[in-house]
Amino acid sequence: MTPDQRVAELLATFDAPEMVVADLLCDRHPAEAVGFTVVEPDLSLVDVTYGELADRSRRFAAALVAQGVRPGDRVATLMGKSLDLVTAVLGIWRAGAVHVPLFTAFATPAIALRLAGADARLVVCDASQRGKLLPGEDLAADDVDWRVVVAGATARDVAQPDDLLLDELLDAADPAQAPVVTVDGGTEFVRLFTSGTTGTPKGVPIPVRALAAFVAYLEYGLDVREDDVYWNAADPGWAYGLYYGIAGPLAAGRRNILLQAGFSPATTWEVVQRLGVTNLAAAPTVYRSLRSSDVPVPEGLRLRRATSAGEPLNPDMVAWGERVLGAEIHDTYGQTELGMSIVNGWHDDVRQPVKAGSMGRPMPGWAAAVLRNDADEPAAPGEAGRVVIDLAGSPLMWFTGYVDAPDKTAERFSEDGRWYYTGDAGHVDEDGDYFFSSRDDDVIIMAGYRIGPFEIESVLVADDRVAEAAVVGVPDDLRGEVVEAFVVLAPGVESTPELAAELQHRVKTKLAAHLFPRTVHVVDELPKTPSGKIQRFHLRRARAAEIAAGA
Ligand code: AMP
Repeated sequence: MTPDQRVAELLATFDAPEMVVADLLCDRHPAEAVGFTVVEPDLSLVDVTYGELADRSRRFAAALVAQGVRPGDRVATLMGKSLDLVTAVLGIWRAGAVHVPLFTAFATPAIALRLAGADARLVVCDASQRGKLLPGEDLAADDVDWRVVVAGATARDVAQPDDLLLDELLDAADPAQAPVVTVDGGTEFVRLFTSGTTGTPKGVPIPVRALAAFVAYLEYGLDVREDDVYWNAADPGWAYGLYYGIAGPLAAGRRNILLQAGFSPATTWEVVQRLGVTNLAAAPTVYRSLRSSDVPVPEGLRLRRATSAGEPLNPDMVAWGERVLGAEIHDTYGQTELGMSIVNGWHDDVRQPVKAGSMGRPMPGWAAAVLRNDADEPAAPGEAGRVVIDLAGSPLMWFTGYVDAPDKTAERFSEDGRWYYTGDAGHVDEDGDYFFSSRDDDVIIMAGYRIGPFEIESVLVADDRVAEAAVVGVPDDLRGEVVEAFVVLAPGVESTPELAAELQHRVKTKLAAHLFPRTVHVVDELPKTPSGKIQRFHLRRARAAEIAAGA
């Protein structure tokens, strides 16, 4: 089957006029097949079959209906990776409700903003998260207009008087009472808020047809096969983890691993080795942390595929992957609004030699372009411009606009409806390979040059002593802006003036003389979104304020 035929087949399955989401994601798969392997904090394993998922999600859907939840209502989860999470999510979808994922690292204001923005009726939360939903300094009692369902062994200890307990609901519910809700491809089933890399989060309504694009990425991007041990290590509180760690695997009938413990290089290695992971998908920071940690690489890895997403992958990581993991790391690019769309695909039908630093080519079902900065016309190969999706050739495109934000939506689409503006800067070479340079907002304009921070950051982190780097433009009377770097040093490395000078020299000699950071700030950590993306605008604003104050 050609990729185009496969895309058409996926759309026929997931963009049909009448579908039942729970059928597509669960009931049509063999009941004895394992959907998830939950790795407990002590690294013991619990396999969850599609049959169990069907039963538990039927119970939860029946309970939701009994609580008055109707198709289209929003129900949020504030939960770590667990059997309870997948039960809740699938139950929400079975009831025809809209799932609002909340990342467990969110503090109360971030949670309250999303719950109010989504007008959620109900929140399912882990017992450990219950405190964040209590009225207090960050949450007025009047603003609490949702009911809470508490999950987990200690749920009873923390439940408030009006709360429901997930375990009790599941025990009491009759799976035969679960509703069967028919939807079409345009029906919203998830509402996810953008991650706030550049400012206030916006609500993205995700329609059922997006599942076609999610499965296409599992196949063409990641090459997840039936006999793979697939581990998507991302958290389902944000797009990559939800699309390709929960919804995509369910839609494809593949198994994913859900690790309950927090991230550490030692645990990551242990899971990869003990479970015999063959197909790993993770953010670049996971790979960078593995590289800079002093935990020894275990023997006997079985990795066949390694993929990175969500942030640019520093070019030197590709070869590191091949040397240490046994699989070069393929970078893939996407957004909450698109899912993954430009990829170094692993599937045999699309695989090309990887160019270090390139995020690849449009995936089957997607077309892209780089437009000039001053006009909606394709830039010449190699010329810096704006990365866009070409809607004339993108049958897998599913985003139609933000919830209640027509102005923000309008900024994303060209007036003639041809282009979707990603808001990212980059270029495409003669071969059609795409290169990311920065978010539009992170572009540094120094003496008329447009500079993307990413290349400079890559040179900095290629030095073993640097664990992470963020490069920003700060105001300068003469040049408009100048480059400054913020670096987090590898464990045990001391910050000295010599080190800063060496890093500056490194940029001059490995990249370009004018790009060296005028100041190198050594910091303990970089400001990040809860999903782990560097928020350069915080650094930029803080430095601009310091400079304005004469610091
Ligand atoms: P989000 O909407 O939070 O998923 O963030 C999407 C943004 O992350 C994109 O617009 C890019 O700026 C960045 N991004 C995601 N994947 C990549 C990648 N592979 N290379 C470079 N930037 C990426």
